[in-house]
Amino acid sequence: MTIDNVRFLEEVRLAPEPGRVFVNVTSRGCGSGCSYCYVDGFREVQELVDFDQFRASIDALVSDESFQPGPDGTVVSMCPDTEPFKTPESTDRVLFAAKRVLRLGNPVQFSTKERLPERALAEVADAARRPEQVVWFTSMTTVSAAHQVEPGAAPIIERLRNFERCRAHGMPSCLYIKPFLPSMLRDTDRLIELLLAHPPDSICVGILYKANERGTRSHRHPVHPGLTSRGLDDRFIEFVSRLRQAGDIKIFHSAICVNAWQLDREPSPPIWSSYPELCVSCRGCGQ
Ligand code: SF4
Repeated sequence: MTIDNVRFLEEVRLAPEPGRVFVNVTSRGCGSGCSYCYVDGFREVQELVDFDQFRASIDALVSDESFQPGPDGTVVSMCPDTEPFKTPESTDRVLFAAKRVLRLGNPVQFSTKERLPERALAEVADAARRPEQVVWFTSMTTVSAAHQVEPGAAPIIERLRNFERCRAHGMPSCLYIKPFLPSMLRDTDRLIELLLAHPPDSICVGILYKANERGTRSHRHPVHPGLTSRGLDDRFIEFVSRLRQAGDIKIFHSAICVNAWQLDREPSPPIWSSYPELCVSCRGCGQ
């Protein structure tokens, strides 16, 4: 069997911790066309992987000795390299993989810029052993310029309504602002207004990664090792501070910590020690 569409985080294979895997459903393409994107063919129509091949990859994943089943096991992250819910066909593949690992009890992350399909929510809710296993991330990087920055994605208001859709199925949602673009500071007041009307269960603000940035402190990116970042600069910190006006919503800087917080387990990789600047001390990790 092959695991062509599953990318293991280095730590999954090398460390005794359960780690995280990234499952993709395309060989290239996305269609959302986000201006900051680094995946192959991000403006182009998705080229989906063959479904039989994909099934074999997921079978191989759950049989691999590095994969640890259960709520304390490997976190499965759906589709860092494309939009998971772009078409019914991409959705079919995403749901096949997600349901397989949800039934084992593993934590699963979805990240989308589309309106969440009702059938995806219903099937995931049915397959999950408990709601905290899942995080539905809905992402955005701008309010006023979405039509230019994320031209192929759903309108902002449709994305924000995903939080209600998740709540209707008893599952947690997270607003994913990644990468944080400094231009978002100009949209902060409008964003706060929108979040007061459409509150998510948590917010994760992530840093911008660029190719081969030099002369600054770098952070290794788990999916594309060639990418680095300057980390949390003053504008990032100002944005997060203003965002607290959106109410009593927990704010994270690492997606893996959102799962960890929901499941009350330590994240792997160990964010609090490997990337301490991303730790928001939501629980007593490492103590
Ligand atoms: S305490 Fe820190 S490392 Fe642990 S889950 Fe919370 S933010 Fe992440």
